[in-house]
Parts: sequence; structure tokens; C-alpha cells
Amino acid sequence: MVLNFGEATSFKVALFLQFSGCDIVKLKWGQIPNWLYALHMPDDYENTSIQYALRDGQIRHISEVEHGFACGCVCIECQQPLIARKGAIRQHHFAHTAKTNCNPSPEKLTHRYAKNLIATRLRAIEPAFEVRAAAAEVEAWARHPASTFEAQKAEVESLAFMPDFKPDVLLHKGASKLAVEVYFRHRVPPEKAARIVGRYAHAVDVDLSDLPANASPEEISPALDSLPRWKWLNNHSELFGKLQQQVERCSKLYIPKLKDLEKKKIPTSYSIQLPRQKVQEGQGKVEWAEGWRRQPLEYRRKYAEMTPAEKLAIHCSFLGLTPVELPLNLMQNVRGQSVLGQVHGLYWQTWMFARFGVGVKTFGALDVERAARQTYTELASVRATLQTANGFSETTELFYEFMLQLTAQGLLEQHKGQRAWLHTFSPVAKSRAEVAALLRALPPAIS
Ligand SMILES: [Zn+2]
Repeated sequence: MVLNFGEATSFKVALFLQFSGCDIVKLKWGQIPNWLYALHMPDDYENTSIQYALRDGQIRHISEVEHGFACGCVCIECQQPLIARKGAIRQHHFAHTAKTNCNPSPEKLTHRYAKNLIATRLRAIEPAFEVRAAAAEVEAWARHPASTFEAQKAEVESLAFMPDFKPDVLLHKGASKLAVEVYFRHRVPPEKAARIVGRYAHAVDVDLSDLPANASPEEISPALDSLPRWKWLNNHSELFGKLQQQVERCSKLYIPKLKDLEKKKIPTSYSIQLPRQKVQEGQGKVEWAEGWRRQPLEYRRKYAEMTPAEKLAIHCSFLGLTPVELPLNLMQNVRGQSVLGQVHGLYWQTWMFARFGVGVKTFGALDVERAARQTYTELASVRATLQTANGFSETTELFYEFMLQLTAQGLLEQHKGQRAWLHTFSPVAKSRAEVAALLRALPPAIS
């Protein structure tokens, strides 16, 4: 017998016709007599699972096309024309208009749609990742936050051509590529994963496995925006390398070697030229600073509004001496100085020592860094790309190293913790008089 209408209906109708003793029927879809259709209706097991079709080369969901032949769709699998059935009773679906053995699985079609959607949206999520580096005394973690890979071009795996050699979607942004695998019903097979890892330095996997086989665009689209669904398959990107390098660099920098510190027992200057002029300008503000200290808080000029010379005079006033009496220790060479750019060591070192170097309060590098960020707006723009779990950054390191130098020079006391970032410091001088005596015992830098 020959049946020329929809493949999905044929089985049921064939059975029916066989049981009715009717052997040769030649019908075309649309010519099915009403009686046959009516008989067919009550126990409908026509395949309603085809929810996706191709129109103008784009994959469309049944909800996105017009009813009937007008949809102009073809089957994703066999490229034959499809009709969109969007009636009131049955689930909306596509059906082949001619007899066919084609019976695409809904999983396969949904998977195809998801891949195409990624390619159309031209974006994927690169999950956060962590780099860990450990050195003798240091452990550093760097976390790169999740980000969106905004592509300019996308290639979707064509089923016909060596599927195992191509990722589901390949996104291009300039020279960089991101391979995307869509995990819907089947995990990436290990052999394919191995090939992808071997071929693409940068590959991710998006897990849609919990979505129904016939998931709609309304389910798939938000799922693609959900961060926890994305995992790295491979990440040997430049970014990774760069970060790794940075962590390694920092792990070397963060804890200056003790033998280096021995050298720092005697402070050294940045340059042969001492900041003579800056010191003299500060000296000119000594009286002003004393007056400022005597004023009630509400009348005092705000620190942020002061000139550098005024700030210097204030720092010195808290330390119980005047700028010309300052030892080299408070204008010494610290490796990371460049982080503070235009802020001369004389200014930030006297600030730090006046703020933390007198009294009874124990403090750590992170406390100093936090205070410095409030005081020096310059630091606000210094955003280390590296964020370590222990909070160490280029700026923290600057203060940390200065504190170690002051310790080596007898101006602070260090309390060792298990790790560098757990070390704390406390002042040697408990009062203004004590700190003045401590500093005056050292030779003034500018005489
Ligand atoms: Zn087909």
C-alpha cells in the first residue's frame, strides 16, 4: 500500500486501512477525506514532537512561524517541506508534507536550536576561574571574574562535515576564538572533548541537560544567560597565562626576601636629590599646622583640601617634630612607589607613620591599604587586574614592604603570622613624645 501523506500519521492510518481491508489508497496531504481525518482524531498519536524547523536558513520554533504552508519551513534533518500545525486542540508542531522516513528526535532539534541561538546572539559566558600560585613562603590566589565573550562572528557545527572535529559553536572575536559545546542530552563524548581541548585553547560547555527535550526558546534563552551553567572545558588562554604570570610575579614580590631586608636596615633614598624644597615648604606650614590642631574639629580645614606642604606639616605635628627634623626613614626608597604615581614618598610615608606608627594599635598591611585608599584618591584608579584571595595587591605590597623596612629599622614591631598577610605590626612608640624621641635619635635627612 502507498500512503502519500504525513509520515507520522501513516502508521496509524495504514493499520486502520489494513484492518478495514482496504489495500491500495493513494492520497495526498490535504486530500485526506474528512471521514478519514475524523477517524484519525480520537486516538491521536501523530508525532507532535517536531518543534523546530528551518526557514531561510534560520532555525525557528513553531511559535515563531505562521500557521500552515505559509510558514515556508523545511525540515532541519531532511530539508523537505514542513507544514506548521497550529490548531486549537493538539500541541503546535511541524509535520512533513510528503511521505518520509525522517523522524528527527526532539532532543536533536532542540540541541540544534540552542547552538544556533548561541551563534545568533554572538555571545557566551566565560566562567570565573582561579589561578593559584605557591612559592616558598607565599600562596597567592587570583580570581578572574566571569565575563561575557562578545563575538563578532560565529560558526555552527555542520552535522554533515566531520562533526567530531568541530565544536558545537565556534565564536570569533578578533583573533581570539571560543569553542562552545552545548550539553543537552549527552555530555561531550570524551574523544570529542579531547580533540577540542587539543585544538582550542579556550573552550566552554553550557549545561542545558535539565531542560525538557522539547524546550522552547523561552526556556533556552534565559538558560544561556545563567552563569552557573557554563563551565570551562579548556582554558589556556592568554588571559590565563597573563594571570598566572602576574600571580607568580606577585608571589615573588609580596614577601621581600629577608636578606634583602637586611640591606634595608639603613634607609636609602630614591635619588641623590633629597626633597629639600618639599621639606622647606612643609617647614613653612609648621605654625599653621599647630594652629590647625588647636582648632575645634568643625572649624578645621579638611585633610583632602590641604596642600601637600600643609599635609606634611600636619603629619610631622602628629609625630612631635618638624619637617626639617625628619630622618631618611620617612622618605626612603620602597620598591612599589610607582603605584602612588605623583605622591612623593615623603608625603605618604609620613602620613602612614603618623597614622599607624604611634600608639598601641596593632595593624596589618590590609588595614593600611584600606586607609590609604581613602586618603589617596590616586589609588582609586589603581585597579589591580589581580585580586588575590588574601587581599594582597600591588598597593598592599607597597605598604607591606615599607612596614617591613620600618621594622628592620627599629621603628615598628612585627608579629609574625602563619602567612605574610597574617603578619601584623605594632608601633614601637606609644605616645607623641616617644615617637618624637625615636625619630630625633636618627640623623635628619636634610640638615
Ligand atoms: Zn525531515
